[in-house]
Amino acid sequence: MRLILFGPPGAGKGTQANNIADKYATAHISTGDMLRAAVKNGTELGELAKSYMDKGELVPDSVVIGIIKDRIKESDAQKGFMLDGFPRTVGQAEALTQMLESEGVSIDAVVSIEVVDSEIIDRILERQKIEGREDDTEEVVKNRLKVYRDQTEPLKSYYDNQGVLKEVDGMGSIEEVFGRIDKVLQGI
Ligand code: ADP
Repeated sequence: MRLILFGPPGAGKGTQANNIADKYATAHISTGDMLRAAVKNGTELGELAKSYMDKGELVPDSVVIGIIKDRIKESDAQKGFMLDGFPRTVGQAEALTQMLESEGVSIDAVVSIEVVDSEIIDRILERQKIEGREDDTEEVVKNRLKVYRDQTEPLKSYYDNQGVLKEVDGMGSIEEVFGRIDKVLQGI
């Protein structure tokens, strides 16, 4: 199964990705986690990424596409994978399509977790208190949300045109939302 987990910041992608990975034993590939690891390790790539992440801007396509290209070649991703936080622009989606085409495979489903803006801001500010993620301040969150609506949400029609978009209501408890996602995954 090749899956994209899609949705605004704070939609619960990371949490649901863990639930899916547990049940379906699929490789969980999160560009956000990979970039944060690079920042923590103080690599050149991390330094570059940090300057964008701190502002809630997207890291340049060339950087994230390169990371994903290497990552999906790894052995644990051969049978399938779940992408969390990638693609985020049309350029990234097109690059992904090409990468997969050259392997003769394609995306089976794009699960889009739908959550309204007011709920997103509340959830992220709550998370900031617990996890203290540097890009979870109100100003940066609002920018991440704007970037999502402007640059990332248009990808829904890209995948809808390919017939793989599955929208899931992201309001409710973690279990309720996972139940809805699970139902979608059983059907593909
Ligand atoms: P969230 O979905 O909560 O915004 P992520 O952990 O997915 O958080 O991403 C955090 C930040 O990492 C983003 O705001 C962006 O700066 C950077 N990032 C992650 N994935 C990508 C991507 N595919 N393209 C560009 N930037 C990315």
